[in-house]
Amino acid sequence: MKMKTEVYALAVVLWLCAQTLGALAQDNIHLDSGWSPEDSAMVSEIHDHILGQGRCVEDLRVLCKDIGARLSGSPEADDAIVWGAKTLREAGGDVRMQTVVVPHWERGEVERAWIRLDGGEPEPIRIRALGGSVGTAGIMEAEVSVFSDFEGIDTLGPNGLNGRMAFFNRPMDPLMINAGGAYGGAYEQRSKGAVKSAEHGGIAALVRSLTHALDTFPHTGGMRYEEDVRQVPSAALSTVDSRRIAAWINEGRNVRIGLEMGCVLHDDMAQANVIAEWTGSEFPDRYIVVGGHLDSWDIGEGAHDDGAGIVHSIEVLRALKAIGYQPRHTLRVVLFINEENGNNGGKTYAQRARERKEWHVAAVESDAGGDAPRGWSIDATDSGTEAVRAWRESLGGYGMGDLRRGGAGVDIGPLKKEMPAGKRPLMVGLRPNSQRYFDYHHSDKDVFENVHPRELKLGAAALTSMVYLLDQLNYDALD
Ligand SMILES: [Zn+2]
Repeated sequence: MKMKTEVYALAVVLWLCAQTLGALAQDNIHLDSGWSPEDSAMVSEIHDHILGQGRCVEDLRVLCKDIGARLSGSPEADDAIVWGAKTLREAGGDVRMQTVVVPHWERGEVERAWIRLDGGEPEPIRIRALGGSVGTAGIMEAEVSVFSDFEGIDTLGPNGLNGRMAFFNRPMDPLMINAGGAYGGAYEQRSKGAVKSAEHGGIAALVRSLTHALDTFPHTGGMRYEEDVRQVPSAALSTVDSRRIAAWINEGRNVRIGLEMGCVLHDDMAQANVIAEWTGSEFPDRYIVVGGHLDSWDIGEGAHDDGAGIVHSIEVLRALKAIGYQPRHTLRVVLFINEENGNNGGKTYAQRARERKEWHVAAVESDAGGDAPRGWSIDATDSGTEAVRAWRESLGGYGMGDLRRGGAGVDIGPLKKEMPAGKRPLMVGLRPNSQRYFDYHHSDKDVFENVHPRELKLGAAALTSMVYLLDQLNYDALD
């Protein structure tokens, strides 16, 4: 009997513990710190709506599968502009086009490479020309020198390469927690590698792909030339090929690489930013802009970069309309063109905004992929930053409470430069989990199947919540 009583008492205690833990788990999402009860209810409703009825996954499927890769200047980018306008209209937006002049580069039909080790037979390897590279005008083959940084090549002197190819093999730093930071740290060899090679007598530049993934997929990306420096072809190698080529060279073996690339730069052409506007009830002449970029590189499907940001942004408009919200400030959803190789969409948008003296109180961008949201990067004055930081605990309840100061997005970036001091927008960029983003980024692997549907919806809900919260702020009280 005594035994039974003890068992019963223990069961009651366990039950009470379970209840308490359950309540705590639920309360995590309603901590309310920094939010009014109305804010908590709205953010909860936004999440319920998008997780239950969100359309962003289907939107991304259409953008990736029916249109696909869509580099600026391509017919696919035109198709994406038409699709973006139609989809924003269906979401309830008042849509217009803003003409943007964009570059038109094509990698061309021919893109192949081979390794010749110690004078043996050529072995084909995969390459991807970097965006903007010149072609090879036929076939070229030369010995390769490997560099782990620019200091290594700078010590060679003006003709140190003497007709060889420079291979820049610096990996993304595996010790950095944020993969975006590691990307930023290794990015220079891709953007400036061709100039560095030419300055030292090289005939081409090869670059280790910017990814932590060890596989056979080369990743493209932007590069640039400088005036008065000879333009040499530039291409990415996969991480697997980079590792073995560097090892052979370091063992003292003779490595020659052959290249044939048919890249062409056509004349600039006119494309467009797609803008949906929703007039604010209290401050119709103050703007909150939210967006991502409609263009992508010309390989893969531009699913994470930045199809995810595009469908997140469209969902902001659709969800806020569907739950009957009326914004206080005028809300603009902008699908920017040409982020990848010029940022002319972002620059044009900011120039027009300055000419029309539009006060953009806030700007929000999603261009860091479709993985689960983690937090936000804030580019704002001290008071603007504090206003967002006050929501940290409540945002944390939804898994998006990691707040840092830093760049908010390439497309919205020019707004900061164009606007006078005192009228610069409070800028915020969505920061999803960065760990797998660069596995896909700018490669054939950036396809719809590699975006997790639920994580994509959580990103859309995060972006919509942030736009709602920014619409609640009193911008006259911020400096
Ligand atoms: Zn992007």
